[in-house]
Amino acid sequence: MSIELFNIKKRYGNQVVLPSLSMSVGSGEIVGFLGPNGAGKSTTMKIITGFVVPDSGSVSVCGVDMLKNPIEAKRRIGYLPEHNPLYPDMYVREYLDFVAGVYKIPSRRARVDEVIEQVGLTSEYKKTINSLSKGYRQRTGLAAAIVHNPDVLILDEPTTGLDPNQIIEIRELIKSFGKERTVLFSTHIMQEVEAVCDRFIILNKGTIMTDKKVSDIERGTLENLFRTLTLDPNYI
Ligand code: ADP
Repeated sequence: MSIELFNIKKRYGNQVVLPSLSMSVGSGEIVGFLGPNGAGKSTTMKIITGFVVPDSGSVSVCGVDMLKNPIEAKRRIGYLPEHNPLYPDMYVREYLDFVAGVYKIPSRRARVDEVIEQVGLTSEYKKTINSLSKGYRQRTGLAAAIVHNPDVLILDEPTTGLDPNQIIEIRELIKSFGKERTVLFSTHIMQEVEAVCDRFIILNKGTIMTDKKVSDIERGTLENLFRTLTLDPNYI
């Protein structure tokens, strides 16, 4: 397994966000992580990537325990957080070179050129990050997430706020990454899951409501399934 969570519990103050979460993602799978706002998706992703420590339970990435061996586990992960944290005053190439330096990548210039081409930033890499469109900023975040060639990619709402053309472009990139890597990404676009994923997991109030292969459901039925599993009866 590429990602394994077992009995993860997490609370913030009095609020139990993850009562007891177990899930796994197999090598080479592209899995859509769904759920209403506040379900606990970002918290789960932060636990997988080692940014948040759970209160109890275990988490491993490619067989490496994130809690006991975080540096080794983090080497295997590329992470694009929800609010894509970039340095706006840096040039695209300068930023990617900086990230590659943090990972101590050998032949770093060549690797940076490679990812610039891979994510379609060739026309933009000489610009500063704050002068990029949101779509190109997402590409820069994706490039930073893959520069160290991780086995596992965790993408938190990578297409939110993009226009329809940009959404399709980022989706294509996710699909191409998924050919060689394991990808777990969150989204609110059901169509995206049907177009890109092998499997989807729906989370509600920190609990997995369903975990299915996309091929096991009829096309176009995911939205209804989502609503049935996550609608708050108080608001019907
Ligand atoms: P999702 O990604 O599914 O929208 P989150 O994991 O962001 O859900 O949030 C789950 C719940 O945990 C929300 O109620 C949110 O307000 C709360 N939460 C998330 N991060 C923190 C934090 N750092 N401190 C306190 N509460 C938090």
